[in-house]
Amino acid sequence: AEEKSLNFLEEIIEHDLNAGKHVSIVTRFPPEPNGYLHLGHAASICLNFGLSKKYGGYTNLRFDDTNPTTEETEYVENIKNDVRWLGFEWKHELYASDYFEQLYLFAIKLIREGYAYVDDNNSETIAAEKGTPTTPGTNSKYRNRSVEENLQLFEEMKAGKYKDGERVLRAKIDMAHPNMLMRDPVIYRIKHAHHHRTGDNWCIYPLYDFAHGQSDSIEHVTHSICTLEFVPHRELYDWFIEKLNIYPSRQYEFARRNISYTIMSKRKLLQLVNEKYVDGWDDPRMPTVSGLRRRGYTAASIRDFCDRAGIAKRENVTELSLLEFCVREDLNKIALRRMVVFNPIKVVLTNYNEDNEFVSVEDNPEDANGGFRDVPFSKELYIERDDFMENPPKKFFRLFPGGMVRLKGAYIIKCDEVVKDDAGNIIQLNCSYIPESKSGNDTSNIKVKGTLHWVSVAHAITAEVRLYDRLFKVEDPSGEAGDFKDYINENSLEIIPAVYAEPALKNAVQDERYQFLRKGYFALDKYSTEEKLIFNRTVTLKDTWAK
Ligand code: ATP
Ligand code: MG
Ligand code: MG
Repeated sequence: AEEKSLNFLEEIIEHDLNAGKHVSIVTRFPPEPNGYLHLGHAASICLNFGLSKKYGGYTNLRFDDTNPTTEETEYVENIKNDVRWLGFEWKHELYASDYFEQLYLFAIKLIREGYAYVDDNNSETIAAEKGTPTTPGTNSKYRNRSVEENLQLFEEMKAGKYKDGERVLRAKIDMAHPNMLMRDPVIYRIKHAHHHRTGDNWCIYPLYDFAHGQSDSIEHVTHSICTLEFVPHRELYDWFIEKLNIYPSRQYEFARRNISYTIMSKRKLLQLVNEKYVDGWDDPRMPTVSGLRRRGYTAASIRDFCDRAGIAKRENVTELSLLEFCVREDLNKIALRRMVVFNPIKVVLTNYNEDNEFVSVEDNPEDANGGFRDVPFSKELYIERDDFMENPPKKFFRLFPGGMVRLKGAYIIKCDEVVKDDAGNIIQLNCSYIPESKSGNDTSNIKVKGTLHWVSVAHAITAEVRLYDRLFKVEDPSGEAGDFKDYINENSLEIIPAVYAEPALKNAVQDERYQFLRKGYFALDKYSTEEKLIFNRTVTLKDTWAK
C-alpha cells in the first residue's frame, strides 16, 4: 500500500516522541454540551482519537461545561452516544465542572502572587478600557488593590454577596499588550445560575480561557488540538500554565471543517430546530451525526470522509459531494439490493399462466458472500412509468411498443399493446414473456440492452419514501447577505407517500442498508412502523449535481 504522508500534527507528535518529550500521547475531545455533534465535531473526534490510537496513548472525553446557562444533560447523553457510534471509546469521561474547586484554588494562587485582581467596573467600562489593536488600553482603577483586599472580595463573590455583573476577577497581565486577549482578561464572572451538574454550589464561573488549558493540564493532555480561532488564545493558555507552574499541555490549531451547502455552527443549527425548519437535531438533512445516522449514513463512511478531507492549517471548504462519494463507496459494498417501483405502470403478461413462481435474485453483486432471495413473479407486474415510452427517441433501451427488455432476475418481455383510457392516458401494457429467457438459464439467444426493476402487483407492499436534497441553496449560507435562513432550500424534502416494493422489504430493519435498484440507497426511518414503512434516501446512486 502507498504510504500516506504525515499531516502537520503527526509531524509534531513524531518529533515530540523522537525527542523523548513524551513516551505516549494524551488527547481530548472537549464538546460543550449545548447541542448535538455535527460533522465538524466528527472531524475533531476522528483526529483526536485517531492520533492517540496511532501513537499509543489515549483520548479523554471532556465535557466543557463551564457555562451553566446553555448546557443540558440531554446533550451529554447524545454526545456520548454519537462518539461511540462513530466507533471510538474514550479513556475517561470527564467534566470541566468537576474542576471548579481546583480552578478556584488556581485563581486564589494567582491573586496571592499578584497576578489577578477583582474589578468592580461593569462590562462596558472594561470593554472601553481595553483599547484597540493599535492603541493601548487603560489600567482599571481597581488594578492595584492589595492581595488581601482581592482575596476578600473574591471570597465574597464566591459567597454570593454580589449580583451578576457587579464584580469580576481579572488576570493582571498588561493593558498595552499587542494581543488584546492578554489585556487583563476576565477569568471569573458572577452568575447566579443553576448548573446541570453542580447545581447551586457555585455562583462564580470561570471563563473558557481560565478553564480549558488548566483542564488539559490537570489531565496531562500532551497535545490539545483546537480550531484556528484559538490561535490568539494560545499565548494566554501558556501564560496561565507558566504562572500556575502546572503540567505544560500544549495547544495546536487546525482549520475547522466547513462543508459546502450546509452550516456547522451549533447556535445556527439550534435555530433551525427551535424555529421548526427541520424535524429536530436528527432531521436527515442536518449535518449532525444523529441526522446523518437517521438518513442512513454509516459510521465507516463518516470516518472515511474525515480521513479523505484531511486536516489543514488554513480555512477551507470541503465539498459536500465528497461526503456523498464516501457513503456511496461504503453502501455499494454493504447494501442489500431490492426492487421498488416509485411511479408504476401495470404490465400484464398475456401468455404467462404460471402459478406461484419465484425468481432468485442476488442480494449484493459486490459482496462475494452475498446471498440470493426469492422474489415472487406473476402475470401482473409494475414497472416504472418512466421506463416506457410510446414514441421513444433513438437509443432508448427501455420499453416501447414492439420493444424488448429484461426484467431483472426474471424474463425478457416484449411490449405488444398499449392500453389507454378514454382520455388517452396509458393505463396498461400488454406484453408477452419469452419462457426460455429466464435469468441464469437463458437459451433464447435474444439480446436486449435494457434491464428494468419490477414488482409483482399481487405481492407488492407499499412504503413511504423521503427524498432529500441539500439543506441550503447556496454554497456558503453564512457568508451571504442577510440571515442564513433566507437561503434554506424549500425543496430539500420530497415525500412520496406510496411506492411499491418487493415483499422482502417487509422485514427491513434499522441497521440494514438497502439499494433500491436504479433509485438510490435507502434506510429505514426512525418513525417507520409495521403498518407504515418509511424509508429515507441516504444518497442517489450517482452524483446528480454535476449535470
Ligand atoms: P460550534 O461553533 O458548532 O458551537 P464549538 O467549537 O463551539 O462549535 P464545541 O462543543 O466547543 O463546539 O467543540 C468541541 C470540539 O470540536 C472542539 O475541540 C472544537 O474545536 C471541535 N470542533 C467544533 N466545530 C468544529 C469544526 N467545524 N471543525 C473541526 N473541529 C470542530
Ligand atoms: Mg467550544
Ligand atoms: Mg460554540
